[in-house]
Amino acid sequence: MPTRDAGGTAARSVLDLIGHTPLVEVTRLDTGPCRLFLKLESWNPGGSIKDRIALSMIEAAEADGRLKPGGVIVEATAGNTGLGLAQVGLPKGYRVILVVPDKMSREKVQHLKALGVDVRNTRSDVGKGHPDYYQDVAARIAAEIPGAFFVDQFANPANPRAHEATTGPEIFEALGGDVDAVVVGVGSGGTLTGLGRYFRSVSPKTKMILADPVGSILAPLITTGETIEPGSWTVEGIGEDFVPPNADLSLVAQAFSISDRESMAAARELLAREGILAGSSSGTLLAAALKWCRAQSAPKRVVSLVCDTGAKYLSKVFNDVWLTEEGLDRIGARAGAVKV
Ligand code: PMP
Repeated sequence: MPTRDAGGTAARSVLDLIGHTPLVEVTRLDTGPCRLFLKLESWNPGGSIKDRIALSMIEAAEADGRLKPGGVIVEATAGNTGLGLAQVGLPKGYRVILVVPDKMSREKVQHLKALGVDVRNTRSDVGKGHPDYYQDVAARIAAEIPGAFFVDQFANPANPRAHEATTGPEIFEALGGDVDAVVVGVGSGGTLTGLGRYFRSVSPKTKMILADPVGSILAPLITTGETIEPGSWTVEGIGEDFVPPNADLSLVAQAFSISDRESMAAARELLAREGILAGSSSGTLLAAALKWCRAQSAPKRVVSLVCDTGAKYLSKVFNDVWLTEEGLDRIGARAGAVKV
């Protein structure tokens, strides 16, 4: 983490404001016998949890010489990792090329372009091995540019390390070391593996709970040991059609498959009832956290994450016309009418 050496309370750069995000308790939704706390990763300067890993992966690549002055950063990203990489990398003089699947929200892509990123769109509807698959496209672009640094958040060890070193200790300290469960999603697996490793070492009682979109292979794989044919889902940033090398699924105690409709309803409810503007993946996490909480017979202290801000999805999750078009509109659209 960069130091705050500006004197007084002013940071010298937005990069100094990455991490140390606030924790807020959910008090207006039914959490059963549990207390549920959300860590607002949306308060990072890039608006998501990915700022942490962007900083750690770039610093690690600089330290071991994979990234040299004037170099090129290439990544496959749902948008948030790319935004973090651009935020950290562009002011340092690196060029940033990002391969973004076309289902990602307009807000994220416009934000990247405004920053000066070279955005390459590719298809969302193809899987690993297809020439248009976003991770394969990024690997190919990186291979064609001499000296390019292919970040590869799915396998880069500096990704989980960021969460083990910062996110985990922040949660543990904020809750006085008493945490029964942590509910996470898996995109690259960095959050799961980093937090899982940290809590295994400091608090063996803490259970890692996976929130996964319906259509992703991860929750069925954990629950049944079977690999299903992947489907498609609307939630952005989590759910996979393969097991990323960074995702240590053995850390997961229980997994929930959450439908797009449940995720959207939970995100809307979080805004309407708690005043927290969160993205769709946070809706998935909240829906799973509430299910886990309500199934408990004794009080528990549970933590989940607001992975990114809903401001990135005003044209989607918070747009009733879009929800209706996607068949994701809620039964009873009024705030408080839906029980999530
Ligand atoms: N939520 C959002 C909005 C994301 O962009 C991501 C990362 N793609 C995640 C959650 C998942 O985090 P991780 O990559 O650490 O598994």
